[in-house]
Amino acid sequence: MHFIDTHTHLYLENFDQDRPEMIKRAINRGIDHFLLPNIDQDSVASLLNLCKEYPKNCFPMLGLHPTSVKEDWQSQLSGFEDVLKKQSKTFIAVGEIGLDFYWDRSFADQQFQALRIQFEWAKMLNLPVAIHTREAFPEMLSEIEKAQNGKLKGVLHCFTGTLDEAKKAIDLGFYLGIGGVLTYKKSMLPDVVKQLPAERLILETDAPFLPPVPYRGKRNESAYLFETAVKLAEILNLSLETVAEITTNNAIELFKLPTT
Ligand SMILES: [Zn+2]
Repeated sequence: MHFIDTHTHLYLENFDQDRPEMIKRAINRGIDHFLLPNIDQDSVASLLNLCKEYPKNCFPMLGLHPTSVKEDWQSQLSGFEDVLKKQSKTFIAVGEIGLDFYWDRSFADQQFQALRIQFEWAKMLNLPVAIHTREAFPEMLSEIEKAQNGKLKGVLHCFTGTLDEAKKAIDLGFYLGIGGVLTYKKSMLPDVVKQLPAERLILETDAPFLPPVPYRGKRNESAYLFETAVKLAEILNLSLETVAEITTNNAIELFKLPTT
């Protein structure tokens, strides 16, 4: 069985002490592809270095995370635009990008502008987008709808919305990224996911954040994707092998990953 962790921050310093061992633990459980979303200009070098070290396993994205949209957002974006245009083949997606109104709304306008600009890059370069949304699902869906000209594709990473929001995202051509929240006791996500087509779901950890049960409170890592996959199989009433096959194929299709 093979799994793809479609959203994992393995380049962060949380893993500096044991990164090779941690990657080995994941590979030993069949989780052998790691898609790495960027955060801001300070994370690019470590992200690309990791991809250089593990060219068959790690794949880079480039984008500005909504919580990093501050005073200097325009200069960060113009730097990324140059890199993307010069090396669009290096990157598998524009990400992660999005809207996050959980912490504060002081850069809300700039978040919208940065999102729209990065949607345009994705369409122009024919790359998918990896979208982060917190406290902003209705706004995000309306932004996707406005930008959708038939060329925008991507994933709502760490999806935790309602059934209506899930259906709308799928109607707009998007995939839903399912992570550790699926295993949480009080989560409504299982009831939503149960009613969705497996062909639109991909798996992720968002490591080092949001670990699944039984690792809550600890650092998350890509090996723990397995617990979420087991839970998804149970919810969809499918075998684990089938979940592995479908979600892996979905990710290969969306991100145009090499299949060997
Ligand atoms: Zn993330």
